[in-house]
Amino acid sequence: MLLGEPKPEISVVVENYLQAIYKLKERGERVFPTRLAEVMDVSVATVAGTLKRLGKQGMIQVSESKEIHFTDRGNEVGESVVRRHRLAECMLTQLLGVEWPRAHMEAHRLEHAISPYVETKLAASLGYPTVNPFGAPIPGYSDGIEPPAVKPLSETGQGDTTVVEQVPEEDPQLLEFFDETGVRPGAGVEVREIAPYKGTITLLVNGSDVVLGTEVAAMVMVRS
Ligand SMILES: [Zn+2]
Repeated sequence: MLLGEPKPEISVVVENYLQAIYKLKERGERVFPTRLAEVMDVSVATVAGTLKRLGKQGMIQVSESKEIHFTDRGNEVGESVVRRHRLAECMLTQLLGVEWPRAHMEAHRLEHAISPYVETKLAASLGYPTVNPFGAPIPGYSDGIEPPAVKPLSETGQGDTTVVEQVPEEDPQLLEFFDETGVRPGAGVEVREIAPYKGTITLLVNGSDVVLGTEVAAMVMVRS
């Protein structure tokens, strides 16, 4: 007789890859091994090895041009991990009082441990949230809800006033900065200065000037 805990059906590594692919596709990107290596911070050789495994498991297909496509199964699992991740972020901030900038990092540990049963309990106790604390839609719970039209902050004009809808959540230091300056979903902002020669955009947030680099401004989505 075997002792010990039940083994998860899908490994953490596989879930992490499927999640990363799902998120790139969500942004409208075509996914190639080099890009995946970049976002997962591993070598292209490592990615190639894991992609082979994912192919054998029937999760993905890689085309002649090396583009990675989900199978139906792969898409389903990728979506499920993203959904568990974003629900975990809501749980951490809404129920446990975890600081906003920490939620993404902590959710990466929890997402793999949430069973479909616990997921339904969690969604119900959170009131079926449609977005995570960073403004990203929660697949499955945001279906059928028309999201507000958004555009990158970098595409606004000087003097525009708008509302932040989504911020990038992967960089903890950037999140700390957003937290300190009040740049978060729901915040009203006024575009004070766009200075392409300096590579900056200056916002008025809660009565204070906040200077962002153009690269960061391209990742912040605001209502259009
Ligand atoms: Zn996250």
